[in-house]
Amino acid sequence: PIYSKEDILRIVKEQDVKFIRLQFTDIFGILKNVAITVEQLEKALDNKCMFDGSSIEGFVRIEESDMYLRPDTNTFAIFPWRPQTGKVARLICDVYNPDGTPFLGDPRHTLKRALQRATEMGYDTFNVGPECEFFLFLTDNEGNPTTVTHDNGGYFDLGPVDLGENARRDMCMALEEMGFEIEASHHEVAPGQHEIDFKYGDALSTADAILTFKLVVKTIAQRHGLHATFMPKPIFGINGSGMHINTSLFKDGNNMFYDEKDPLQLSQDAYWFIGGIMKNMRSIAAITNPIVNSYKRLVPGYEAPVYIAWSARNRSPLIRVPAARGASTRLELRCPDPACNPYLALSAILMAGLDGIQNKIQPPASTDKNIFNMTPEQREEEGINALPKNLDEAIEELEKSSFVKDVLGAHIFEKYIEAKREEWDEYKAKVSKWEIEQYLTKY
Ligand code: ADP
Ligand code: GLU
Ligand code: MG
Ligand code: MG
Repeated sequence: PIYSKEDILRIVKEQDVKFIRLQFTDIFGILKNVAITVEQLEKALDNKCMFDGSSIEGFVRIEESDMYLRPDTNTFAIFPWRPQTGKVARLICDVYNPDGTPFLGDPRHTLKRALQRATEMGYDTFNVGPECEFFLFLTDNEGNPTTVTHDNGGYFDLGPVDLGENARRDMCMALEEMGFEIEASHHEVAPGQHEIDFKYGDALSTADAILTFKLVVKTIAQRHGLHATFMPKPIFGINGSGMHINTSLFKDGNNMFYDEKDPLQLSQDAYWFIGGIMKNMRSIAAITNPIVNSYKRLVPGYEAPVYIAWSARNRSPLIRVPAARGASTRLELRCPDPACNPYLALSAILMAGLDGIQNKIQPPASTDKNIFNMTPEQREEEGINALPKNLDEAIEELEKSSFVKDVLGAHIFEKYIEAKREEWDEYKAKVSKWEIEQYLTKY
């Protein structure tokens, strides 16, 4: 739906909306909001709503802290779980400087810039379908989250084993009320693990939708006395949570990744897009897999990728070409996890793919064997590289990449690296439970 300012003012009256949350995200993809009353809405829609950006991590220095929020009227949605008289709605905003220029620390702006690049290259839509996985954990008597899963269900299990059924049902209904088209929801492989898939859309709407999705899932879980987490690997020894990203480029309503004449029915663009992602993958990993914990998911044995390879046959590699063709022809990137900032991750993935198209980067041959069964020598022989093995290595790759600096812009690039270094240094210095278990009595 395309709403004008007048539409919004009319709808809030008709629907008895009392509060509007103006939302935006910091560079780590954490949702922020400021609530205004409906009386202030017109002023907000005229882009006159100001806030102090200095307290937002990765935003600005104190002396230049006044920022303006410009609501994107197309993102208007009412929170179905809030009271239905005096309702609460939200608008996702772009962040602007007092002089009227877009604020370069706004991740939504980064994605808009990347999409502009796609338009210049002749593609009108970058379509993205995310697969968000998450865990539902029990809360203790004080309401604090535990790491005790609320059920022992497995892949596609159903009740009474799947105790998440009721919570998941309410999540799907709330999401639908907010305009999501839910395609499937099911119990995932690990106990307490779930997935809800919604229909793909253009990258900007989808990045907005991922943030809304997480908010809805967490909120509804809480109403069921559960804690929903998108942490990539909450429990050692079982599957972690990924956020596979399905991508395709469209032009005039046609899927540009599809070519019926090719043996795999993939277009030259699709091959180059694969080539570009494979080439740039190690330098964008710190964006798609942003936290210390991300790398504990990317290990052999849990359906998550470890090596940089692609295949149209098996499910394990980094890039999979799902069987569907025609309008559904897509490339599935399997490394991203739901801790990533979706605006930055989609920018990086798109720009990596476009780099492939621009520079005609032919991908290596597809790997149809099980990479995990190959010896290091065999992988070496076939030129199969690995993803960074931890956040430290990922930051190093990021830091030396002028490509990523270009994608993120110097402001975000520098702030991001600074914060990630700090995160790693703190983690590195901490003494973990594992060390105590291993060493305390032994030495
Ligand atoms: P999997 O086979 O990995 O389990 P799913 O069926 O769970 O995949 O999810 C597929 C996702 O891909 C959905 O979000 C769907 O809307 C999306 N999708 C379908 N067609 C396209 C397309 N042309 N471009 C991008 N995403 C697409
Ligand atoms: N949970 C797996 C991961 O970490 C993915 C399972 C699947 O293929 O849906 O990526
Ligand atoms: Mg899944
Ligand atoms: Mg998948």
